[in-house]
Amino acid sequence: MDCQQCWLTIRPSRRNFLRATSLLAGSAVFGALDARCCETAANQPAGPSGDSTSVVTIRGHHLFDMLDALGTGKSSHKTLGPVAQRIRANPKVPIKLTIGVDDICGPCEWWDYGKSLCKRGIEEYPRDNENSLTSDKNAIRVLGVKPGDEMPADALYRLIQTKVDKKVFAEEVCVACRLVDKCKETYQLKITAAVKALCSTQSK
Ligand code: SF4
Repeated sequence: MDCQQCWLTIRPSRRNFLRATSLLAGSAVFGALDARCCETAANQPAGPSGDSTSVVTIRGHHLFDMLDALGTGKSSHKTLGPVAQRIRANPKVPIKLTIGVDDICGPCEWWDYGKSLCKRGIEEYPRDNENSLTSDKNAIRVLGVKPGDEMPADALYRLIQTKVDKKVFAEEVCVACRLVDKCKETYQLKITAAVKALCSTQSK
């Protein structure tokens, strides 16, 4: 099998991810709010992926997982980091909201395409995938939008800041997640930093 054939055996989403990451520049390392996703980290360099105007598809709970990366510019998550960096560099990029697989899960080693679920930790925490889907739906409902809706990233994060305070985050959005008690303590700081980063990037 030659290289061309090897390449074609890789599923399309993985090919797109590999194309994007092969172009990564710099060595910024990003960090995520969700420790579950962070467990996949391997301190890989993160960089921009995709062009600056194409839509980024994000599942509801990943809006919150990206807060730290958006605010600090750092993440150790292999697939969240590049997406967050792309949004941070292009705050007007449209974000399309979804439930389930998104541009972060798609190229992730833990996404099971056959079963359409995240298999990370599923042996130890069998409800994690279901709870993540619940958080996706909760996030979209609390924001007053629908799956498939699109909004510029900066406007979307301002909407999150307006509609989701620490109490709503803990009791309505991520209420089903086993990590919520830890995450809620840093939520307010992280949403403030994320909005500031997107707005200051915009004004440059
Ligand atoms: S498949 Fe998605 S939810 Fe699961 S670890 Fe990867 S990025 Fe996180």
